[in-house]
Amino acid sequence: LADERESMYLVSEYAKSYFEEVLWNTEPGKAIGHTYFKERGFTDDTIKKFGLGYSPDEWEAFTKKALSEGYKLEFMEKTGLTIVKESPGGGKKQFDRFKGRVMFPIQSMSGRVLGFGGRILTNDKKAAKYLNSPESDIYHKSKVLYGIYYAKQAIAKEDNCFLVEGYTDVIQFHQRGIENVVASSGTALTPEQIRLIRRLTNNITVLFDGDAAGLRASLRGVDLILEQGMNVKVCAFPEGEDPDSFARSNSLEEISLYLEENAKDFIGFKASLLMEETRNDPVRKAETIRDIVHSISRIPDRIQQEVYVQECSRIMDISEEVLFNTLAQIGRKDL
Ligand code: ATP
Ligand code: MN
Ligand code: MN
Ligand code: MN
Repeated sequence: LADERESMYLVSEYAKSYFEEVLWNTEPGKAIGHTYFKERGFTDDTIKKFGLGYSPDEWEAFTKKALSEGYKLEFMEKTGLTIVKESPGGGKKQFDRFKGRVMFPIQSMSGRVLGFGGRILTNDKKAAKYLNSPESDIYHKSKVLYGIYYAKQAIAKEDNCFLVEGYTDVIQFHQRGIENVVASSGTALTPEQIRLIRRLTNNITVLFDGDAAGLRASLRGVDLILEQGMNVKVCAFPEGEDPDSFARSNSLEEISLYLEENAKDFIGFKASLLMEETRNDPVRKAETIRDIVHSISRIPDRIQQEVYVQECSRIMDISEEVLFNTLAQIGRKDL
């Protein structure tokens, strides 16, 4: 089994170099893939650093080349690089999973290639914008953070980690000189991902895309960070912007200033946000109180809990006593 995994690592590593080779040294790679990254504002150095590539718009260009290099179909299928299907007339048909996409290799903490994200080049709403490698013996989505290999030193040095949503957010921040940044890449944040960060720092700043839908859904994930006793700040971007687009149109100084001014302590941020939504509806206010107290109940440190109860009492205009009572109830229920 260890041999099998090694074979999967090897073919993944090969795929990374193949997609890079196509991007830099073939006509479609240059005209389509490289042009796409340029238009997104990525420099050649950035494209090289992150090993970005292009998968040709042909049914089995990668699969054929890899086979000719001696890689086994079995491991190409197990890593999901090749999809093998029974054809209706009998026999089997094989084709490249990432046909016609620009490629983002996903690497482990130590730099091994585990899988890929592939983006379509059009804004065709019918096709999935990003396609990712499937879960496999080497790629466990819940345990991987995009960019961690390139960010680990900076996270330790800055003693803080920025957590963003997407590949391009990580890459654009790096290009601007902010290197302590990783992405959960589409999946909901997991405890294992948080533990990866906690090996390097006790401080996380979650950066949300400026779309309301994303924000509400992401708040739950943040409770998981509190549960591990980490300090969490959050920062939302202006409507319609994400860290990538914001970093692209602002200088390092402007980005740093924006983060400084807008990164808020999570509990206070959530309390204010929920209160705004609640307005004066008493039913919704009760829900809001339970929601925020639920977050506070995740914090392992009792003293920190008290400080937050005081803060929320102020923000939400509700007595500390009510909040403490709710906290006690939730504590019991979760036991
Ligand atoms: P871009 O700037 O390239 O349009 P993004 O990174 O801003 O993309 P979001 O829509 O903000 O994309 O999504 C954040 C992350 O969620 C993506 O980087 C990707 O990892 C994941 N994701 C988005 N759409 C899909 C999809 N259709 N299938 C799988 N994962 C997706
Ligand atoms: Mn988003
Ligand atoms: Mn985004
Ligand atoms: Mn984006």
